[in-house]
Amino acid sequence: MATRADDPTAEATDLLRDLIRNKCVNDGRVESGQETRNVDLLGNYLEGAGLDLERYEPQPGRTSLVARIEGSDPHAPSLLLMGHTDVVPVNPDGWSRDPFGAEIVDGFVWGRGAVDMLNETATMAIAFRRLADSGFTPRGSLIYLAVADEEALGTWGAKWLVENERDAVYADYVLTESGGFQIPTPEGPRLPVMADEKGTYWSKVSVHGTPGHASQPFRTDNAVVTAAEVVRRLNEYRPPTQIHDTWRRFVEGMQYPPEFRDALLKDDELREFARTLPLGLSRVVYSCTHTTFAPTVIHGGTKTNVIPDKVDIQVDIRTLPGESESTSSPIDTPLWDSLTRVSGRLVDGSALVPFVMVGGTDNRFFRRAGSVGYGFGLFSERLSFEDYATMFHGNDERIDQESLGLCTTLWEEVAKDLLV
Ligand SMILES: [Zn+2]
Repeated sequence: MATRADDPTAEATDLLRDLIRNKCVNDGRVESGQETRNVDLLGNYLEGAGLDLERYEPQPGRTSLVARIEGSDPHAPSLLLMGHTDVVPVNPDGWSRDPFGAEIVDGFVWGRGAVDMLNETATMAIAFRRLADSGFTPRGSLIYLAVADEEALGTWGAKWLVENERDAVYADYVLTESGGFQIPTPEGPRLPVMADEKGTYWSKVSVHGTPGHASQPFRTDNAVVTAAEVVRRLNEYRPPTQIHDTWRRFVEGMQYPPEFRDALLKDDELREFARTLPLGLSRVVYSCTHTTFAPTVIHGGTKTNVIPDKVDIQVDIRTLPGESESTSSPIDTPLWDSLTRVSGRLVDGSALVPFVMVGGTDNRFFRRAGSVGYGFGLFSERLSFEDYATMFHGNDERIDQESLGLCTTLWEEVAKDLLV
């Protein structure tokens, strides 16, 4: 029987489609996700290679899988390839195809998780298996982690594992989601590496008032009215622009025309300049250079004829590198150098640029534990930055098969470059 072992792209496509079809949707409830289905699939796939596999299940069905190729030198640096197995919910009304059908159309695999991040979870497994089959004997250990619950703060996934099973998952170097899409420049494509991650600080503001009969609202202390003013002020608040190191290195690495480059580096003008950019870019530029405050949920009031005495406002605050909650990794590291060498071979004329992840990933738990963690991958020109950004948690998520092949080769070659 013909196998697909010599065609990693086809193999990655098959595995990704199965992961999508398993529909491990994490809506934040502890009983959702049920990543055990994707762990079974990945475990079956890896088992044949005679690898050591461990499963961890802190809550029923919330399973994570660890596979390991032990290094020959316990002092040599280790590498963790980490992919999450859960996906966020969908509203199928916004999709042109079945979000869990995993259809292939014109070389693209469609479905929830195709970009965030079952593509990388699948290709990391393929690379891991290929290395094991080839008798890979690194000096430093190579670890693969298919992790649950990334989409709900990592409570039953990366956070739990780092706190409770550190020896099983810790590595000196960590690669996980985001980054690696090609941004064209006159000097060749630039590949962003997520070296920093904004801090996620979810907070609640409770607004109090005095209850009374709503038929007599004159001179009452109405918590809904006060809350409206709180939300208005949050929205008006202008935190200062911060041109931090990673932003500066990114802008300087992008080979922008001097005028555009300078505008992106002026802390007194950037806010106004960002307004003139296309919407998607404008939001990214602003978020990379400002702490942001987004009021997102509001609950209050009990009955139409009662003046409300309490309203809760939830605010999603994202802090910048250098502020509390955020995490960063340096870029003068052997992992950065490996990524530069390998991606330079795979994408002609490319160079890496550091970038700030404005959302949250599991990298933060590992950085806090002492790892150097980057968000990276390697994607073809068919996946533009704009598409990539809008498909995260968005409609019509899809990944081209060429990118699956590139990612597989990237993980495999980086492991060889860094660990041997
Ligand atoms: Zn993700």
